Amino acid sequence: MSEEKSLNFIEEIIEADLAAGKHSSITTRFPPEPNGYLHIGHAKSICLNFGLAIKYGGSTNLRFDDTNPVTEDTEYVESIKEDVRWLGFEWARELYASDYFDQLFDLALQLVEKGLAYVDDSSSEEIATQKGTPTQPGVRNQFAERTIDQNKQLFLKMKEGKYADGSKVLRVRIDMASPNMLLRDPIIYRIKHAHHHRTGDKWCVYPMYDFAHGQSDSIEKITHSICTLEFVPHRDLYDWCIEQLGTFPSKQYEFARLNMTYTVMSKRKLLQLVNEQMVHGWDDPRMSTISGMRRRGYPAAAIREFCERIGVAKRENLIDVGLLEFCVRENLNKTALRRMVVFNPLKLVITNFDKELEILTSENNPEDENGGIREMPFSREIFIEQDDFMEVAPKKYFRLAPGQMVRLKSAYIIQCNEVIKDAEGNITEVHCTYIPESRSGSDSSGIHVKGTLHWVSAKHAIQAEVRLYDRLFKVEDVANAEGDFKDHINPDSLQIISYAYAEPALAKDSINNQFQFLRKGYFAIDKDSTGSKLVFNRTVTLKDAWAKEVKKG
Ligand code: ATP
Ligand code: MG
Repeated sequence: MSEEKSLNFIEEIIEADLAAGKHSSITTRFPPEPNGYLHIGHAKSICLNFGLAIKYGGSTNLRFDDTNPVTEDTEYVESIKEDVRWLGFEWARELYASDYFDQLFDLALQLVEKGLAYVDDSSSEEIATQKGTPTQPGVRNQFAERTIDQNKQLFLKMKEGKYADGSKVLRVRIDMASPNMLLRDPIIYRIKHAHHHRTGDKWCVYPMYDFAHGQSDSIEKITHSICTLEFVPHRDLYDWCIEQLGTFPSKQYEFARLNMTYTVMSKRKLLQLVNEQMVHGWDDPRMSTISGMRRRGYPAAAIREFCERIGVAKRENLIDVGLLEFCVRENLNKTALRRMVVFNPLKLVITNFDKELEILTSENNPEDENGGIREMPFSREIFIEQDDFMEVAPKKYFRLAPGQMVRLKSAYIIQCNEVIKDAEGNITEVHCTYIPESRSGSDSSGIHVKGTLHWVSAKHAIQAEVRLYDRLFKVEDVANAEGDFKDHINPDSLQIISYAYAEPALAKDSINNQFQFLRKGYFAIDKDSTGSKLVFNRTVTLKDAWAKEVKKG
């Protein structure tokens, strides 16, 4: 179908490994820490890990990296599972690093028994100073002199809860002069008397990330452990542990994390936005979270397409959020049901329309042959947008003005004859006549008009709330902008139209909850909707209004 796509660097490695018979099939994992909701950056990692396994006939584990008892929570576990599934992926096994606590402890004990790990009583400050600097080697302290047996007894007592938090750590003996600071006898276990969301109070020692992560990969026989570039310096320790322990030879590969314009993408920052109520929760449609994007109406397929298009790079870059919006528009254009909704109504009376009602029809989606049609009531009183009328219009104004003609979409050509005002001079209604022969689809009027307006029948319209979103931040590169990231929040990122008027077809459920409101953008029904009032989120505008603004300067 499409041209042969070149392989990314990870695919090249995998194909070479398979060709060399290194592995008979591949196993990848997606390893989120359950300390927040997933964001679009995680989506990239998910698409990559699951996508590779699908492509090469392997499998992917969902592993919760839950080795830090303090920040983790089951609410996050559930949301992560929902998000991965919604993105369209199914994991082979659902696993928890905390399930390996016994095995990890035993592996650490093996290092002690081999004389490769020792218990250090120094404070974290002392350990930091003794580590030296990148240009100066570190020094070992007297605790490194402990015998294997002493270390073993102390480590077991640490586990038994005999010592206070921070009073002892387990370190591996590697190289205090290594140019890689992470190899200068790194800590692999610490004491923390804290309740864990899965293991409860069973443990008071917890493994450090590097040790737990690498050994969890080995336990699961992960062939290709893919992570982001900041883990490059951690790779030596990852390999060292595997080599010393003789565990399964998992290999770590690093790619550039996704950064995107006008947004933040760290769980820590997203949590701040939630806690400080700068947004309405993790799934606020302005958030870069997967749940926020889902609520806003982004289709999962559009997110996958976006991840495919940005590819896998080895160098950090900043992706234009416009590309994600482009993928969303492309997808919705093919599937969204076309509907008409008037945001700021102006009443229009069709004085020569004598019938009570006429049922007109219009296609649901001109891009979809099988999309079908919907019925639209047309009556004497209709609403159009206030913006679509001008009493004194400039030249080349093709919308409605006194004496001018326009077409009402999928209905008739009308002409404006009279403007009605109240005592203060405000326009209250506009009187028009319609041309009966001009009905869309069977127009024999011979009249050509330049403007086509959306409209709803006043009596039949349903009221709806419409939420319009703009970028959450005012600056492009939020992470590198001066000052606190919250200083750059766009105060106008949410605009609410409390009473919009929608054509009645919208009251009926759409299977996929994807709509295009003519001339307004793509919309999705929000969960705040009630039986008496629908609430819509604008998913994305029709055209990239933002890019135009940027050009104008
Ligand atoms: P954050 O900084 O947002 O908290 P994290 O890296 O700490 O992210 P984890 O839960 O540890 O979040 O990440 C799970 C996986 O997702 C890791 O493999 C991580 O490398 C990957 N990941 C996280 N953020 C991004 C990103 N922006 N782009 C690509 N992959 C990412
Ligand atoms: Mg993390």
